[in-house]
Amino acid sequence: MTNTGLSDEEAHRLLERCGPNELGKQKKTTLRSRIFAQLRDPLILVLLVAAALTVATGDFADAVVICVVVLFNTTVGVAQEVRADNAVAALSAMTAPTARVTRDGVEQQVPSSTVVPGDALVLGEGDIIPADAALTYAVALLVDESALTGESVPVDKDTHATGPQAGQLQAGTVVLRGRATATVTATGADSALGRIAASLHARQQLTPLQKRLAGLGRVLALVTVGLCLLVLALGLIRGQSLETMAVTAISLVVAAVPESLPAVVTLGLALGARRMAARNAVVRRLSAVETLGSVTVLATDKTGTLTEGRMVVERVWTPQGTATLGGTGYAPAGDLKALDQDDSHASGSIEAARELLVAAALCNDASLIPPGTDSPQWSALGDPTEAALLAAAAKAGCAHDDLVRTHPRVGEIPFDSLRKRMLTVHSTSSGTFEAFLKGAPEMVLDRVLLGDSPALLEQARREAARLSAQGYRVLAVASGSLDTVPDLLDDAESGLRLLGLTAISDPPKPTAVTTVEACRRAGITPVLITGDHPATARAIALRVGILTGEKDAESAHRIATGAELAAGHVPDLTAVRVFARTTPQQKLDIIQAWREHGDVTAMTGDGVNDGPALRQSDIGVAMGRRGTEVARQAADLVLADDELPSVISAVEEGRRVYANIRRFLFYALAGGAAEILVMLAGPLFGLALPLRAGQILWINLLTHGLTGVAMGAEPVSPDAMRQPPRPPQQHILGDGLWQRVLRLSLLVTATSLAASLWVRHSGGPWQTVLFLALLAAQLGVSLGLRERLFTRRNLYLPAAVAVAAGLGMAAVYVPFLADLLETSRPTGTGLALAMAAGLVGFAAARAEALWSRTHRPNRRPSV
Ligand code: ATP
Repeated sequence: MTNTGLSDEEAHRLLERCGPNELGKQKKTTLRSRIFAQLRDPLILVLLVAAALTVATGDFADAVVICVVVLFNTTVGVAQEVRADNAVAALSAMTAPTARVTRDGVEQQVPSSTVVPGDALVLGEGDIIPADAALTYAVALLVDESALTGESVPVDKDTHATGPQAGQLQAGTVVLRGRATATVTATGADSALGRIAASLHARQQLTPLQKRLAGLGRVLALVTVGLCLLVLALGLIRGQSLETMAVTAISLVVAAVPESLPAVVTLGLALGARRMAARNAVVRRLSAVETLGSVTVLATDKTGTLTEGRMVVERVWTPQGTATLGGTGYAPAGDLKALDQDDSHASGSIEAARELLVAAALCNDASLIPPGTDSPQWSALGDPTEAALLAAAAKAGCAHDDLVRTHPRVGEIPFDSLRKRMLTVHSTSSGTFEAFLKGAPEMVLDRVLLGDSPALLEQARREAARLSAQGYRVLAVASGSLDTVPDLLDDAESGLRLLGLTAISDPPKPTAVTTVEACRRAGITPVLITGDHPATARAIALRVGILTGEKDAESAHRIATGAELAAGHVPDLTAVRVFARTTPQQKLDIIQAWREHGDVTAMTGDGVNDGPALRQSDIGVAMGRRGTEVARQAADLVLADDELPSVISAVEEGRRVYANIRRFLFYALAGGAAEILVMLAGPLFGLALPLRAGQILWINLLTHGLTGVAMGAEPVSPDAMRQPPRPPQQHILGDGLWQRVLRLSLLVTATSLAASLWVRHSGGPWQTVLFLALLAAQLGVSLGLRERLFTRRNLYLPAAVAVAAGLGMAAVYVPFLADLLETSRPTGTGLALAMAAGLVGFAAARAEALWSRTHRPNRRPSV
């Protein structure tokens, strides 16, 4: 079975020759195709038509302005797309699948894409098989091939089995149980997965928000076109020339429609994803960024997520008495002491405890790693529960290596979360065999399995309940002698003798308490779903605050077990805060119930069976280090540091992205609406053609193009996580945004027109002042909408405003631009009035921002 595998050098050579183990990379988008895609945008096409029209009529000034706008929009569009794509590509690299191979005799984790034919794969529960391979060694290997064959019944795989596919593993299938090694036979397009790859090529799809915004964009475009036709008609009625009015109307359409919206949204989502990754939360789909912002329920598992996951056996109960174990962590240092004072009893209970620990160390797949360069402390490979048992045995003077040598394993039924127990059979030097069983007390303390007296079993059950209530993870251990190894290993699970119970402590992480608090403040309901005992789950839930106190814990249906769910004894799953002894299937029911209740769920999971529930929840969260490959690939969010607070950071980033998109929409729509209103209302006050086409486009360039894009990077609001989540169904313009757009645009229109009319009254250059006032008011709005006015984060925005203001002044004072845009020098009063309009815009936006912070209708109540 030992296979030293390829050498690193051979592997490299083969990789060069056979190519990466990937299913045909998607073609890279070229710069040219990106530019063409931008130029195909309907609004840009309209602008190009307008440019042709202006050239035809000899209006070269407007033609130049239009070309500048097209050039600027295309450049910004392409640059944003490239940035977004790069961010997404970096993310997919972070969550790319990995595989374990033995090379040069050393087991190592490598990206699946670098696996080559001839590699020696090492496979365990939860692994996705990276390439086609032939089994070389297998223990109780069960493989789910449904991804390839559609066959939902898992298949036993064995090196000895006969049949066409018996010893063959196929790329893309999943190890549900057991361990194996295998030699890779085909990779990439040559593998089974490669042969059906065409159907698997999933492109990043548009997120729901992107789709909704595309719809909104269409509606806005229609409304704007309608209004601009009205401007055109009114201009013609007033005797303006058709060419002038056509170009003006087209420019107005271009200015009023927030054409940079899709780019702002995509970039906002992609940069949000990048910021999340920097905070250890790596999203696997862009849509997860927006969904995260509206999460209302966080369902978490216990071990390693809420608790340290560094388990320590503290007590060993045996029928002879109780022993305690000292020491911390996985270091084999600490004493086994009897709780009894009486010496004769004490030695009996120590002996019995040692016998139990030997059994638990043999019925075990973990291993302990001494301190080294990687870790200054003892660490563990494998299941932490088992590692704790190994450490305890070592503390009791039973070295694992010696035990394995004297008791080679000849058979096993591995642990799985349905049976909640594990059996191993070992040969002894005397030629007989011994069976060791360990597992959850209620799955082991059973008369079908154990030959002990009912009184002893009852006593053990009471002890197990007492220890669980103290927050311990309790395992029962039993053993039995066998003359032969039964053909069906299940037959070894009878007539065994109870050795006792181990009480394993796994204290809550300090961050678990703060995370639960943060959830509550942010209106997110924390729920615990665990395979552990209800008493253990209750104790931990109380300690971390998922249950708020004894009264909460005692309320009806606050804690439910898998058995109660199965019997239909729980009327409302959304009332439950702690689910214990649940099966993976029940996780699906729980998530479904919350979703039907209208909630947005995030659920953590790392086991091989968690895939479906991770997929079903709105945000499946997998642990990057601890989680299985299956869980990682099924998840929407992978926590690089395995720490739950990273989910909260991700929610915060999600809320920030959403808030920034809404802020941009508010700004862009209010500005666009003001431009149309000025053009519609101006003539009523005697301003025949309020703004010229070039001027409208210039304002558009400086407001939407420069400042709007900078808005996407605004920092998160300080109280974003002190508010309940937005309702999932809320329209992007909901929660009063529509009304705010209308209010602000009316105010900006009125202020700009007032400034212009004042100047006109004294015979000044009213059009230039209107142009400057409208621009200044919008720039004022962009600053006023900031959550924190003087924050040093996102200096892009003040810089963009400064550049825009400079270019606005240049439009008036630089002769060449003034000719192009047909502006003239304003008087001192005119300039002062334009600045005043800027201040009004700023103050109005500030008032709106304050108002929206204090009045939040339609919010979900805090849970
Ligand atoms: P959590 O929410 O804490 O992560 P879980 O859902 O992962 O819990 P399981 O690992 O399925 O829970 O464990 C369920 C029960 O099975 C445990 O309470 C314990 O009694 C028992 N158990 C756990 N690990 C083993 C093991 N390696 N061998 C035998 N029994 C085990």
